[in-house]
Amino acid sequence: MKTHQERMAKKKAVIDERIAKATEERGVLILLKGNGKGKSSSAFGTMARCVGHGKRAAVIQFVKGRTETGEYKLFRNHELIDWHVMGHGFTWETQDKTQDIAAAEKAWAVAEQLLADERYEMLVFDELSYMFKYKYLPLEPVIEALKNRPENQHVMITGRVMPEGLEEIADTISSIRDERHAFRLGVKAQAGIEF
Ligand code: ATP
Ligand code: MG
Repeated sequence: MKTHQERMAKKKAVIDERIAKATEERGVLILLKGNGKGKSSSAFGTMARCVGHGKRAAVIQFVKGRTETGEYKLFRNHELIDWHVMGHGFTWETQDKTQDIAAAEKAWAVAEQLLADERYEMLVFDELSYMFKYKYLPLEPVIEALKNRPENQHVMITGRVMPEGLEEIADTISSIRDERHAFRLGVKAQAGIEF
């Protein structure tokens, strides 16, 4: 039987080989999907990492839920972060599809500019996927703009369900499963946890 040390040495060799093969340095497209809690907060956490290294970032919130989230309050005045809240409310509240589409197009116009600006090293498009679910935006121009973005630019997209076309061009896809949520135990949405 192999000793623990031998097993670890073998494992290290495998990992070292993988590290040696991963030599590219470039912007990545990351999709955070699924019904579990943790998509937006993961995107903002990764953005904090980038900004901590002195890189410029921008957020577009395609769906405006709560206005004053903790991360918005923390980041909005940061000199390296632009924060755009674009959506004006959920469909089931506004019941106005024309207005929703106009808001989506306006948000996309901002996104397109950011995707052409290499000064931004990290873009977070929160709930962009929602725009395709409700057909507020066509998918093709979004895919084209993502493909043609600056080489060094990272993009993170959140949303429960991702269209196939986005998954095809993504570098990293994380699916967050809803195993349990405190809401179903009767805990209300709390500041600092939900927003
Ligand atoms: P977070 O912002 O906490 O990272 P999220 O981005 O994964 O969550 P969304 O799908 O954007 O979640 O949902 C928005 C709100 O609903 C958030 O306040 C989130 O905490 C909460 N939430 C997320 N998943 C669930 C769930 N399975 N049941 C109940 N509430 C949820
Ligand atoms: Mg979210």
